[in-house]
Amino acid sequence: MGKTSELIKQRIEHAGGRYWAGDNIASYLHEGDKEALIEELTRNFEGVLDGLVIDRANDPNSHDTPRRLAKMYIKELMSGRYDSKPNATAFPNHTNDRYDGMLVVRSELKSMCSHHHQPVAGVAYIGIIAADTLIGLSKYTRLAQWCARRGTLQEELAMDICKEIQSATGSEDVGVYVQATHGCCENRGIMATSSLTQTTVLRGSFFSDAATKKEFMDNIKLQQSFVCK
Ligand SMILES: [Zn+2]
Repeated sequence: MGKTSELIKQRIEHAGGRYWAGDNIASYLHEGDKEALIEELTRNFEGVLDGLVIDRANDPNSHDTPRRLAKMYIKELMSGRYDSKPNATAFPNHTNDRYDGMLVVRSELKSMCSHHHQPVAGVAYIGIIAADTLIGLSKYTRLAQWCARRGTLQEELAMDICKEIQSATGSEDVGVYVQATHGCCENRGIMATSSLTQTTVLRGSFFSDAATKKEFMDNIKLQQSFVCK
């Protein structure tokens, strides 16, 4: 039998799908595939440690590192590639007592850059003018984290979150502001420890209406003054 990763790739290619670092491939996985991928990855990470000339046999700290890395990638760092989309149950936004204001949710994000596999850590502010359906408040964060737990670029991540919130809520009017620090700027290369990257995606009235955009940005400032003291 072939490698699990090869079998999954064949399924994706057969269906005309894509498997870039930021893509979710959960619908191509069969029962038991995740466990099989962890086994396969463990062997591959053994090769990585060998290539780094680390004595896996005698160094007690490195003995189980290949398996730890394999599990961490599949179940944590890149879980948003292998796990299905979180279920965001929609509730009706009734016409009688309809909520027609702006909602802004702050979501913690942990991600990883697809160029260097270095940590990306930050927050997303998700703003929305609700349409006919509402979703539970925790679902905004669950969806954002599901998008983040992959190999990403911050620009793509902000757009992915916006798209998922639009599709879960049926609202065109969504704004997403992400600010994050990047390990690939802090730990290597320019070693810029205080750099911060901001990306803003505005759709619908967040883009076309200056007052909506201003309210969103003002809300973010209010949230930040609260969180940062
Ligand atoms: Zn990077």
